[in-house]
Parts: sequence; C-alpha cells; structure tokens
Amino acid sequence: MSGNGPDGGAGTRRYDVLVAGGGPAGCVAALVLVRAGARVVIVTPVVPPGRRVGESLAPTARPLLERLGVLDRVAADGHTPCHGNLSAWGEDALSATGFRSGPYGDGWHLDRARFDAALLEAARAGGARRYAGRVRGVQRWPDRWQVTTGDGGMFQAGYLVDATGRAARPARRAGAAVVRCDHLVAVAGLLGPPSTGAAEPERASLVESTPWGWWYTAPLPGGERIVMAMTDADLVTGLRLLDPDVWWARVRLTGHVRDRTARWTEPPRRLRVLAAGSACARPAAGPGWAAVGDAATATDPLAARGIVTALATGSAAARAILADRAGETGALDAYARRIAAVHAEYLNARVAQYRREQRWDTPFWRRRH
Ligand SMILES: Cc1cc2nc3c(=O)[nH]c(=O)nc-3n(C[C@H](O)[C@H](O)[C@H](O)COP(=O)(O)OP(=O)(O)OC[C@H]3O[C@@H](n4cnc5c(N)ncnc54)[C@H](O)[C@@H]3O)c2cc1C
Repeated sequence: MSGNGPDGGAGTRRYDVLVAGGGPAGCVAALVLVRAGARVVIVTPVVPPGRRVGESLAPTARPLLERLGVLDRVAADGHTPCHGNLSAWGEDALSATGFRSGPYGDGWHLDRARFDAALLEAARAGGARRYAGRVRGVQRWPDRWQVTTGDGGMFQAGYLVDATGRAARPARRAGAAVVRCDHLVAVAGLLGPPSTGAAEPERASLVESTPWGWWYTAPLPGGERIVMAMTDADLVTGLRLLDPDVWWARVRLTGHVRDRTARWTEPPRRLRVLAAGSACARPAAGPGWAAVGDAATATDPLAARGIVTALATGSAAARAILADRAGETGALDAYARRIAAVHAEYLNARVAQYRREQRWDTPFWRRRH
C-alpha cells in the first residue's frame, strides 16, 4: 500500500469523514453523519474482553438514545436499572438521590462492552464502515486528512473526528492543546458474582470519601460489583493501593463500601489503574476536524456524566460537520465555543462538589479546595 503524496495510493480508502475511536462518542457521531448521507469510517481497535469496567448511565441519556433510535435496543440489552446515587460525602451518614422522582426515571448499571457494541452495531447498520485498527499518523493536506493506522491501513477523509478518549492524540495533531486540571486515577477491582448469598438488593451507585480520595462502587449486570479507589496518581504508591491485599484492607476500613462488599471474602486477583482526570481540548474543533466525548471534555467520574456528554457531543459535532459541509462557515467554531463553555461550567460544579467535603486537610483535598 503506497500513498505518501496528497493523492494517496491504490490502497488508500476515501471517505467523507473518518471517526477515530469507536466508543459512545465516536459511534454517535458516525450514526448522525451516515443518516445524513455521509460516507463514514470508524477506525477503532478490537477491545479485549474485560477491558471495559462497568459504569452507570444517568437517566438523562434516555432522550438522547431515543432521538438516536437506539433506546429500545439499550433497554432490552440486559443492563440493570440504577435507581439513584448514594453518597457519604462531608459526613459519615449516607444520603440518597433517587432517579424515580426525576423526569426520566431510572438510569442503568451498564455492561460497558455490550453498550459500546450496541452503539457500534447501530452505526454499522446505518451504513458506517468499521476498520479494526488504531490511528497512528494524522497528516493534513489542503483539502483533506490522510490517516494511517498501526497495521499499515491508509485513509483519506474530508473531516476527522477525534473520539479516541482522554489521550486525544488526533486532536493534538490537528493543533489542539489538552489542558489537564488534575491527575485523578481509579484503582479498579471487579468482584465476580459471589458463589453464595442472595441477589443484590440495592440498585444504586455509591460514593464514599476518605482522607486520601474517595471510593465508588456499583452492582453490575450478572451479579458482579465494581469497586474503585479514586485518588491522585502520585499518591497511589504511598497508599500501596496497587497491592490487592492492601486495597482490600482499605475497603474493609470504609463504612458503606464495606457493607456492599460483605458477601465477598477475597480481593479481586487483578486491579486496573485508569486515568480519570479532568481535561479539555482547546480548541475542541477547527477547520475540518472536531473532538468529541472525552477527547473534547473529560470529566471526573464523580460527576457521573461522561457517557451522556459523549452521546451529546458526538451528536453536536456531527451536526456541526454537516452544517460546515453545507457551507455554514463558523459551525465548527461555534461547536468549539460550546464545548469550552460546557467544560467551564463543569469545572465550577466540580469545585463546589469537592468543597462539600471539608473533613480532611490532606494533599488530595487541599488540591481540590
Ligand atoms: C474510572 C472511571 C469511571 C467512570 N464512571 C463513569 C460512570 O459511572 N458514568 C459515566 O457516565 N461515565 C463514567 N466515566 C466516564 C466515561 O467512561 C467516559 O466519559 C466515556 O467512556 C467517554 O466516551 P468516549 O467515546 O469519548 O471515549 P471512550 O469510551 O474512551 O472510547 C474511546 C475509543 O477510542 C478507541 N481508541 C483509543 N485510541 C485510539 C486510536 N489511536 N485509534 C483508534 N481508536 C482509538 C478506544 O479503543 C475506545 O474504543 C468513568 C470514567 C472512568 C475513568
């Protein structure tokens, strides 16, 4: 396969839009674009089983999924209903926020792999092509992008959508800076279905603060439970959180996470460290390109809005690209301004949320107050 010049070579595949990354943001962008008649390829690697941990999907996702025509599929896909959030934050006692009294009803505890697969399937059914690979090279020619993949694939496209998540490398190649606000990480353990005990009675996610960060736990479809210790990357070693026995001993020191994990007698065999910091791309779009989802605005899991933001920004960026194609100059700039405003608003809410916990004068909390 050649193709080093602007015309590419015989093996170069040409599309109107190349979407890098097949998570929720990329799939939604592709879905909206193909429905409007664009030729779209999603370039995304095959995700190994177990790579995605479970997460909660806020009820505000429902109208977005409905508009995309995938709500029924998601609702029937075996995700468990999430009735609300519990939190021990600023005090030992738990307080509850229920979803049922809200306008959209329950959210879900997701099987993330299944959720992402359903969205990718919807984009493919709508006409998007999928290429299993990882975007490596991004080069701009006067009127198009030339993109290469790790396995030698070569593409040309009029527009580039960066949906690769927090790293946002294609956006950086297009000229954006990624502005990071913190270095929050999750040390996550998946507790398999317990061999004994009744089914989980509670369908809520729970956060509980500690002197060095906070815990998140939620039941997952299939009887599993996800437990995550959230702290700053530079504090992990001192806390010995990567040692499953120490991690488990710390679970046992909590008030409420301990209760939710009482049916498990052993720590998970493997812990995974996941980047979870807040960041945004500046700008989030420019001539011929847009960043969506975490690549555009990555939020703290405490806000529990990452997937909803991915769905909303994927859709908004696709509409901006369609407007730009139709000659509406300024549509991509307007999208970038909107992302900057949404991220600024999110950062204010994040400060307020962390200020509600005032019990500890420790590095983790000092950095956030
Ligand atoms: C610990 C943790 C807990 C969270 N909990 C929640 C929660 O409970 N609720 C919630 O709403 N949100 C939560 N989030 C946030 C949520 O996971 C993200 O906001 C959401 O997944 C963003 O979707 P996305 O499509 O932008 O990116 P991603 O879901 O990260 O998808 C990116 C895709 O791009 C692919 N990719 C990466 N690099 C390349 C490349 N070079 N070329 C091609 N493809 C590439 C990846 O394989 C992946 O498929 C959590 C995040 C973390 C870290």
